[in-house]
Amino acid sequence: MKAGELSQRWNELSEEVMREVAEWRKQHPKVSFREIEEEIDQRLSGLRAKMLSDTASRSVAADWGQEGAEALCPKCGVKLERKGKKKRKLETQGGREVELVREYGVCPKCGQGIFPPG
Ligand SMILES: [Zn+2]
Repeated sequence: MKAGELSQRWNELSEEVMREVAEWRKQHPKVSFREIEEEIDQRLSGLRAKMLSDTASRSVAADWGQEGAEALCPKCGVKLERKGKKKRKLETQGGREVELVREYGVCPKCGQGIFPPG
């Protein structure tokens, strides 16, 4: 996915969050400042998780995903053997689960499976 498409998608998502918050406010005219804050935080954490996932997937595509790029075992310093792409689940600070599809490698020396940072 190109950077332009990403920002387009994030724009749409942000607008959706703003529309939803405005709509929610109409339906809940008597909520407290704290409740509004929680509602906005909750909705933004979804957008945040999406941006995290998109951005992290993209940086890997730019690094290890490229032909000829190398990733090393952090313990042994030897080249990882590529094992293709695997799903990796991470949790954001907002408690949302993000699923990334990332290149996965195994160290031929110590046998440890690693998702190279990207
Ligand atoms: Zn190793």
